[in-house]
Amino acid sequence: MLEIGGSEVTTTIIVKCRIEKMKLTEMIVPVRCFTCGGLIADKWDEFNKRTEDGDDPEKVLDNLNVRRWCCRRMLISHIDLIDEFLPFT
Ligand SMILES: [Zn+2]
Repeated sequence: MLEIGGSEVTTTIIVKCRIEKMKLTEMIVPVRCFTCGGLIADKWDEFNKRTEDGDDPEKVLDNLNVRRWCCRRMLISHIDLIDEFLPFT
């Protein structure tokens, strides 16, 4: 972090607060599938945790009872980019 001027420090603090707020509300993954409208947001945390631990995504989705391919692609293809683009807002 560069401390060139007071405004940059203030901006950094605001961005940090926004990031922490986003993590608390967890509105990063879409709530519903874009195609069928099935609820997927409630499955994201467990899917993300188990796949990061090394589980096979196919088996995790089967276990979470996500059967339709449209809903499966929502979870598989989701990338958390919120931390990457928030500093530019
Ligand atoms: Zn779907």
